[in-house]
Amino acid sequence: MRICSTRWLLVFLLVVPAQAIAQSFPTDNPILRAIWDEGMNRSQVYELSQTLNDSIGPRLTGSPNLTEGANWVIDKYAGWGVTARTEQYGTWLGWNRGPSHLSLIEPHVRSLNAMMLAWSPGTPNGEPIDAEVMLLPDLPDSAAFAAWMPEVAGKFVAISFPQPTCRPDAAWEEYTQPDAMARMMARFMGGQQRGNVFTRMREERQAAQAAWRTRIENTGYDARSLPDALEKAGAVGILTSEWSNGYGANRIFSARTDEVPTFAVSCEDYGIVARLAANDQGPVLRARAEAEFLGDQPAFNTVAEVTGVEMPDEYVLMSAHFDTWDGGTGATDNNTGTIIMMEAMRILHAVYPNPKRTLVVGHWNSEEQGLNGSGAYAADHPEVVEGLQAVFNQDNGTGRVTSVSALGLLGAPEFLGRWVGQLPDEMTRNLHLGIPGNPSSGGSDHASFACAGAPAFSLGADGWDYFSYTWHTNLDTFDKVVMENVQWNAVLTAMLVYLAADDAETIPRDRRIPGVNRRTGEPGTWPECRVPQRRGPGGE
Ligand SMILES: [Zn+2]
Repeated sequence: MRICSTRWLLVFLLVVPAQAIAQSFPTDNPILRAIWDEGMNRSQVYELSQTLNDSIGPRLTGSPNLTEGANWVIDKYAGWGVTARTEQYGTWLGWNRGPSHLSLIEPHVRSLNAMMLAWSPGTPNGEPIDAEVMLLPDLPDSAAFAAWMPEVAGKFVAISFPQPTCRPDAAWEEYTQPDAMARMMARFMGGQQRGNVFTRMREERQAAQAAWRTRIENTGYDARSLPDALEKAGAVGILTSEWSNGYGANRIFSARTDEVPTFAVSCEDYGIVARLAANDQGPVLRARAEAEFLGDQPAFNTVAEVTGVEMPDEYVLMSAHFDTWDGGTGATDNNTGTIIMMEAMRILHAVYPNPKRTLVVGHWNSEEQGLNGSGAYAADHPEVVEGLQAVFNQDNGTGRVTSVSALGLLGAPEFLGRWVGQLPDEMTRNLHLGIPGNPSSGGSDHASFACAGAPAFSLGADGWDYFSYTWHTNLDTFDKVVMENVQWNAVLTAMLVYLAADDAETIPRDRRIPGVNRRTGEPGTWPECRVPQRRGPGGE
């Protein structure tokens, strides 16, 4: 009972602030008011988000979790009376993450904040192994590196840059005091003062990072090929660390080893291990990792559709990728976008069941490997690309949507202006329209449609520490979701989709003259559509 009431209090706190009645609809359009009412007073975003994050979890392309997630999405749509299906476009290497643990056991015991990278092999038979750690050495050239290589046999090799400090830049900037700065300068620079401690720290970090890049270049390999060379030379595991400049946050991508595990270690714990190794203080690790390779698995998108009653061959597409990295649960990349589109479709089907144009939700696969799912859908459905009235894609975190660009389509501003002009003032006072904008060449799935000249809008959200804390990190979890913003964005999206679907006119596709490329000085060109990768991984 106690637990129950706490939970409802939490729901209340998270959801209620946005329930205030919008006072400022510029028109008396009953559908817009009904969308607001449905989305603000009967929102399902909390339950959807909690299930997707906590119960289904992360969804790597080709993983069993992604299939489980897709089945759940289809079931939810069915419950709302909306038809959804999976659409296979290729295959991807299936991999199932098992538990992984890494501990320092010498010179003292410490459980490390670490996990194996995606698609990493486990330890032999999933059993624990103990081994010493070597830090990638600073050698003059590839011949010297080749001569050193045999030493890695039976060892872990740490190949990433060890950060000199895991305090984020912002903390240095905030806490550095002028007095302390003068004392530090006097001590470290022989009385010479140069910049402040913050600037100096940043310069040192950058110089050390550049030196580390040279260290890797001198091996004759690059960061992608080095792990494979080390495992062939007998290393028992690879240690990496990709800090995202936030306390405890590190990015978890995919392994480049075929036989031995690759671990991603937090900035703080990688630092301990690297310093011990650099100072010959004998670090020994105990590692255990289980992983299951499942061979080629179907790669598919999940698509929901409600056919339009007046213009069934014209489409309004709600777009958000469904695959995730798996260091966290994909909470803000892109479970937030996924929930926004599901909830927008739910609301629309409840209050606008007979749309003029066909409504589609695209839950794309393999965005993280290069927009493959959306690219395949665009290639396989030229009739949809041809008939697109608008795409609304969301994929940059849990903030409120505050910007929409016209993407270089000269006719789009008039339509965006007309649609946004009918939204309640609460929703538009901080919404910036980018006009004429530039065509999007990448970044997320709208680019798969914008390249063809279709009106494919990206709903740009406020940051909420996206790049330093949640984007592709171990901390991208449910607690970071700002539920009120997800609810808000779902209502906003539903309104825009309704207005786009119901508009008597269709957005023309006249293109701006692309701006000059500032880097090259050359005239800009419209981005070309990429050929999606339908079988993977490969070519790496
Ligand atoms: Zn994303």
